[in-house]
Amino acid sequence: MKAIRVNTPLDLEICELALPEQLRDDEVLIHVKAAGICGTDVHIYHGTRPGTEYPKVIGHEFAGEVVKVGAKVTDIQAGDHVAVDPVLSCGSCYACSIGRHNICSTVQCLGVHVDGGFAEYSVQPQQNVYKFSKKLTWEELATAEPFSIAAEITWRAQITEDDTVLIFGSGSIGLATMQVAQKLGARCLIVDILAPRLELAKKMGADRVINSTQESVAEIVRQETQGTGPQVVIDAVGNPQILEQAVKLASPAGRVMVIGFTKNPSALCQFDITTKELEIRGSRLNAHKFPEVVQWFNNREVQPALLVTHTFPFTEAEQAMKLIEEHPDETCKVLLTFE
Ligand SMILES: [Zn+2]
Ligand SMILES: [Zn+2]
Repeated sequence: MKAIRVNTPLDLEICELALPEQLRDDEVLIHVKAAGICGTDVHIYHGTRPGTEYPKVIGHEFAGEVVKVGAKVTDIQAGDHVAVDPVLSCGSCYACSIGRHNICSTVQCLGVHVDGGFAEYSVQPQQNVYKFSKKLTWEELATAEPFSIAAEITWRAQITEDDTVLIFGSGSIGLATMQVAQKLGARCLIVDILAPRLELAKKMGADRVINSTQESVAEIVRQETQGTGPQVVIDAVGNPQILEQAVKLASPAGRVMVIGFTKNPSALCQFDITTKELEIRGSRLNAHKFPEVVQWFNNREVQPALLVTHTFPFTEAEQAMKLIEEHPDETCKVLLTFE
């Protein structure tokens, strides 16, 4: 079988690997059909993702058809359409013991720490494999993982129908999170610097889009919330200055969500946090959120297809990454297809 392997930074190879034939009792063999390219994949390609060792088969957003299952696999059978939760954990540390395996002390993510899903076939433990309705397209299924991120963020932010949510960043995570927040009944304001991305947000029903190169975010947020500020601010960009701005803008009792990985510090003022009793909360990967995503997708409660702007055959992975890097204005979720 063919797989997309980054041998060393900037050396991406469509390589030939042995087709996994022997399955352990709890394993599932998946014929991968579609996979999403994430910023993480691009970073690994460039050698700018700390903690990744090479060579690595990349990809953590993927879906496909089950070919065969191990002797003790229940609930999943050949022919099922599935997506894979890429989070692997130890099962016994403190975080795992309280159901938060996504922050396991030795957490691993497929395609980052261990070989991932940009391959024609993939073997995964049944507990990471989730069955979806066959009415969904492979392209839709390939976006299940970004929606699991959105499920985690919205759960951590405790979003309710009484909230106004301000999202910085109209990329695939910002937009998937907006869709989920809307589903929960919240009002959503979304900020970006790229007009086409904001058009996409409008198409998905954003209550207000804000182009921060043309408008004052603070001014519009004040108007839109009658001076109170948004109850939830989500930084889906990962910029230290945005965290500073979020703490200023949030309403009393507000929740500020952090999902970036930068090590550059933000200058936060204790006064804002104390006087408003703000909660600054991190969100990483997902803590068993795939069952919710399955429901949303099967019931058509979210619109995953709207995230997808481009599709490439997997053999053109390098061209696809180049497009993402050179034309962020034209791209949102770019997919690879496997035959
Ligand atoms: Zn991703
Ligand atoms: Zn653990």
